[in-house]
Amino acid sequence: MVPKLHHEGSTGSGISPKTPKIASGEAARALEPALNCDAALLSPSTGIIDSHSYMLALRGDAEEAGAAYAFHTPLLAAKATGGRFEIDAAGASPMTIECGLLVNAAGLGAPAVARSIDGMPIDLIPRAYLAKGNYFSCSARAPFSHLIYPVPEPGGLGVHLTLDLAGQARFGPDVEWVDTIDYAVVIERIGAELAAKHFGLVEALADHLANMILKEFGAAWVKLSVAKLGALRNAKLVGVTVERKK
Ligand SMILES: Cc1cc2nc3c(=O)[nH]c(=O)nc-3n(C[C@H](O)[C@H](O)[C@H](O)COP(=O)(O)OP(=O)(O)OC[C@H]3O[C@@H](n4cnc5c(N)ncnc54)[C@H](O)[C@@H]3O)c2cc1C
Repeated sequence: MVPKLHHEGSTGSGISPKTPKIASGEAARALEPALNCDAALLSPSTGIIDSHSYMLALRGDAEEAGAAYAFHTPLLAAKATGGRFEIDAAGASPMTIECGLLVNAAGLGAPAVARSIDGMPIDLIPRAYLAKGNYFSCSARAPFSHLIYPVPEPGGLGVHLTLDLAGQARFGPDVEWVDTIDYAVVIERIGAELAAKHFGLVEALADHLANMILKEFGAAWVKLSVAKLGALRNAKLVGVTVERKK
């Protein structure tokens, strides 16, 4: 592990900052007494930031430099025509846009976006590998004042300790490789939503849940049925089915 730590420090990969310092176990414990380690990589130039403020600042810089944003505008499909791209976008005002250069930075959705581009060679599209991670909150006082990471493991950073801006600690994420969206988690999320909110109409409930699944679970398309038992005297149940796309 210690040679691996030295490697991390020298390559600048993973947890390494630009100026990492290898500290002995003793030196590390002088900073964090609860730490059990033989050596550590101290990263004085990294830390916790308010990511929303950071994004806002980046957006401001980009707009000042001439960039324009179209939020809540999912790309549905694209095709290459005459050296340019024609893009079909959905959202509140569906539109077709033309551009000379198209950058696919859709994160987990990037392979699906690539597949929706007409003319994109299918063998160049990487397969999406999905992993599920859980975080575990720590209700006691945070045992550390720094973020604490183990040496990275294949496929992830390893269960680490993070602190939020208020100093609350949580451990995670664990990594579980999965083939698809975990529907047990979806069901749990729907249960929490039903307990927290009241919906007068099944249509409103179906619409709300479908949009929540699109947004929170990265689904590209949702078909959802909601039924109410005993709503009418002559019918066992009444319900609606809605379909929503990103
Ligand atoms: C729980 C967790 C904790 C993390 N903590 C840290 C951390 O502390 N520090 C750190 O540096 N990194 C952290 N990361 C990693 C970091 O969040 C990601 O590496 C980073 O967000 C990837 O950026 P991205 O722009 O490639 O993709 P994303 O941030 O996933 O952005 C992709 C965007 O594309 C959009 N999109 C998808 N499909 C379409 C479509 N069809 N049309 C239009 N838009 C579409 C999505 O809605 C999304 O907004 C963490 C990740 C997770 C999951």
